[in-house]
Amino acid sequence: MTSIQMYEGDKLIECVGCKVVFLFSVGEAAFFKDHDLDEPKRCAPCRHVRREEKERIAADTPAEGEEVGDCGV
Ligand SMILES: [Zn+2]
Repeated sequence: MTSIQMYEGDKLIECVGCKVVFLFSVGEAAFFKDHDLDEPKRCAPCRHVRREEKERIAADTPAEGEEVGDCGV
């Protein structure tokens, strides 16, 4: 038995990250459309991970001019 409760207009999308099939509800679709966003390609946990990664990379990026290299010879 499936535990996913679907309503008319809901969609099932396969996450490109973890291949999990997740429900993209008609309510979410309306929200995405409202904000001019494309349908998600990833499930919520994958999107969350990606967002955190992006923030971490942004925080780790060295300030401009601070080049890291091993050309000190
Ligand atoms: Zn995923």
